[in-house]
Amino acid sequence: DASRLADFADHEQVWLGRDEERGLTAIVAVHDTTLGPALGGTRVWPHENFEAALTDALRLSHGMTLKAAVAGLALGGGKAVIVADARSDKSLRLLDAYAEMLAALEGQYITAEDVGLSLEDADYLRARTPNVTGTTRGGSGNPSPVTAQGVFLGIKAALKHQSGSEKLDGVRVAVQGLGAVGWSLAKRLRNEGARLSVSDIEPARADKAVTHLDAVALEGDAITTADVDIFAPCALGAVLSETTIPLLKAGIVAGSANNQLATPQDAERLRARGILYAPDYVINAGGLINVAEELTPPGYDADAAMKRVGVIPRTLGAIFRRAEAEGRTTDAVAETIALEYIESARAKKARR
Ligand code: NAD
Repeated sequence: DASRLADFADHEQVWLGRDEERGLTAIVAVHDTTLGPALGGTRVWPHENFEAALTDALRLSHGMTLKAAVAGLALGGGKAVIVADARSDKSLRLLDAYAEMLAALEGQYITAEDVGLSLEDADYLRARTPNVTGTTRGGSGNPSPVTAQGVFLGIKAALKHQSGSEKLDGVRVAVQGLGAVGWSLAKRLRNEGARLSVSDIEPARADKAVTHLDAVALEGDAITTADVDIFAPCALGAVLSETTIPLLKAGIVAGSANNQLATPQDAERLRARGILYAPDYVINAGGLINVAEELTPPGYDADAAMKRVGVIPRTLGAIFRRAEAEGRTTDAVAETIALEYIESARAKKARR
């Protein structure tokens, strides 16, 4: 249905790869390459139909353009989806077929891990074709500590904007999800004296935080409405909605989870309640900054990647100030900043 795809008319290229014998249906979408080559992970997901998969690839690649731009990276936005169930349909044969598709694109799209595509899968692809980042052998590997550091610095930037001080001592933070990012974030927060409330659907993870980080464990949705200063969603998307926003007690929402807003209108709901929201794709850009470091000569350097996430609190500070001055949501201002950056790069290119 072309009319339903009209919102996505600004994509540069979209490829479809099919190999029935090896079970591959893949869509690679390149949104914009003004700032540099299109980079974004490959998502393996059992979309219910082709249109849903295409919409996902178009929406996600558009998001990657904004994410790279607002992080000040020389990268464009791309994303791929493989229509398959990562637990039951993913096979080496399928990955072989996908590697062939990537090779045929000759670097027009650079991939990385994402939901359903593990670091091991990325390694497998990289052994067969270049233009795979985030691999463990010779690549940047697990991005989570860098993402956590970016979120940690972003939380401090939000505190500073709101109270003039970035001190975490005694500040109450609710961390939802203690996975790779959430756990690493919780440790950083605790080291600087924050008082933690935590939740995880895996009780052992929350128990570990109670034992080692002096945290209080909360069950179910109680974490969303906990009486804290900061809510850090580090598990699922769509946690900020018409239903949850009126119940939030935190004055700041700043966490790693992707797509935290259930709908675009939820940014305005947060603003109306005076809750400072760190746009998810700005504060969680550490993972992308980490893989981008691989493409920066002379190659990947973990310390350099950790240093580069310093851009996140600076950008967030600018977004918070501008949003306040213009009476707009932080989400809208983040998008404006990304688009302004791309536009000025495009104008510079045109003058050359
Ligand atoms: P992860 O899978 O390691 O951890 C997620 C954790 O959340 C798990 O411990 C899981 O049990 C828990 N969880 C799931 N549902 C929950 C619920 N309803 N309530 C409480 N806990 C729940 O994932 P991760 O790599 O730590 O990523 C966390 C979030 O950050 C995801 O949304 C991811 O897309 C996003 N993100 C991650 C990175 C990265 O570098 N890993 C980068 C950018 C964004």
